[in-house]
Amino acid sequence: MMMDYPLTLIPILERAGRLFGKVEIVSRLDKGSLHRYCYADFYRRARALAAALQNAGLKRGDRVATLMGNHYAHLEAYFGIPVASGVLHTLNLRLHPRDLAYIVNHAQDRFLIVDDALLPLFEKFRESVSLERVVVVSLSGPKPPGAEEDYESFLGSGGDEFSYPELKEDEPAALCYTSGTTGRPKGVLYSHRALVLGAFALSLVDSLAISHHDVILPVVPLFHAAAWGVPYAATMVGAKQIFFGAHLDPETLLELFEKEQVTFSNGVPTVWIRMLEALESNPGRWKLAPGFRLAVAGSAAPESMIRGFERHGVRVVHGWGMTEIPPMCTLSQPKSTMRELTDDETYALRAKQGLPGPFLDFRAMGESGEVPWDGKTMGELQARGPWVAAAYYNLPEKQDRWTADGWFATGDVVTIDPEGYIKIVDRTKDLINSGGEWISSLDLENALTSHPAIQEAAVIAVPHPEWQERPLALLVSNGNPRPSPEELREYLEQQFAHWQVPDAFLFRDEILRTSTGKFWKAKLREEYSNWKWKP
Ligand code: ADP
Repeated sequence: MMMDYPLTLIPILERAGRLFGKVEIVSRLDKGSLHRYCYADFYRRARALAAALQNAGLKRGDRVATLMGNHYAHLEAYFGIPVASGVLHTLNLRLHPRDLAYIVNHAQDRFLIVDDALLPLFEKFRESVSLERVVVVSLSGPKPPGAEEDYESFLGSGGDEFSYPELKEDEPAALCYTSGTTGRPKGVLYSHRALVLGAFALSLVDSLAISHHDVILPVVPLFHAAAWGVPYAATMVGAKQIFFGAHLDPETLLELFEKEQVTFSNGVPTVWIRMLEALESNPGRWKLAPGFRLAVAGSAAPESMIRGFERHGVRVVHGWGMTEIPPMCTLSQPKSTMRELTDDETYALRAKQGLPGPFLDFRAMGESGEVPWDGKTMGELQARGPWVAAAYYNLPEKQDRWTADGWFATGDVVTIDPEGYIKIVDRTKDLINSGGEWISSLDLENALTSHPAIQEAAVIAVPHPEWQERPLALLVSNGNPRPSPEELREYLEQQFAHWQVPDAFLFRDEILRTSTGKFWKAKLREEYSNWKWKP
């Protein structure tokens, strides 16, 4: 038998501090300057934060909220809070203040760490929440205004003596709320064990191959699903980490990628589509690190985007994940037995959401049980595994997302092909029901974005007097001459049956998105619910 040694974040922090003290962590601050320090500083400060929290009376399982951008102090909170037996509760700073107040109250957060630049946002819901202590990180100025407590002084308040509490691996380490695109935000508690196993899973060579030799820049906000676990994996292997701060425009990011020779980044397609455009219109302007790779998830990565980045020597790895199953759950890479696939077949495969990682069990359920792996039959994806949520936080009425035999029902409709590759067809609520036949909005969007004049496409179901629902396409042009509806129809009919092709194509300046960068289909459907179809 082996020792009973709990899988917690403590050994990850300890190893990073002891073995990789000289490795750098770089953060871009608001005004563009770069803050640089090393793992040795990070280690000391994360422990100082833990000591300060203990000194402030933090009890086991107490929630400490963060309202912060992507930078070193947030990484300190990623470790300092959980190793002190607290729960890191990352707040989504793109939410409405009303939702933030709801979430802070629902989570019963006790402390808050907030960026000075985000104080105006905090002020908008401060009166609606009751927090015992608010600590301000000064990134844009020397000192917090008024009576606010300064993060640096707070770090100094715990004294030099710090010893870790005894933690069990199934204790909660972090709390994240879904963005609430489909109803009230729901909280998911991540255990230490889930985060540790997730860090291992991400680092596998056949997964994202996160290595000590990488330079890692998460583009996913640190408030979103633990940035898909990437900061935990990066710290576990002692990789150099870069944080972008608050600015996400493609040129700033590309400059940072070039300057720090970033080798790995992760984010949602929206960001990458804009970045690809910047690369295409400025050939040779940025010298990216050889072997640079991007993990893309959150919504479907169009095949044209995967091909586009490849032209610039950037490898895109497409995956699927959700707040309830952090970090990424599936990744789409060809198997060793697929070398005979043509280029086109390989790209089509890579645009699927892919294969589940080790320890994750998936099945697709139709009306009469599990659907066959034929790449055609649709079913709802259900999941089981050591980092799949078992319940929402304090929300017994939402337990219906778990089946009687213990699987989590994801709400995504998929097909699974004979090789086991999962393809997301739609969210259950976004599928289009045209006279009893189902149409996948994602397939249409993928095809539309491959058109040379289209940058973005969202297809939604709109009520129809005869067919119940019909697809309507919202498009953003990329500046090339706009095709007519007839041309687009013809273009799509190369791939789709006549009845699957949208009945209307509307060009817009932009398409409404949620706080996590997905098309806000529920809102869009509402907006177009009275659309008058031409007879
Ligand atoms: P929320 O549920 O609050 O919108 P999540 O980030 O948890 O936020 O969203 C997870 C959902 O995002 C998945 O259930 C799925 O519908 C969608 N999604 C994630 N990755 C992909 C992908 N690669 N392709 C298509 N859809 C995706």
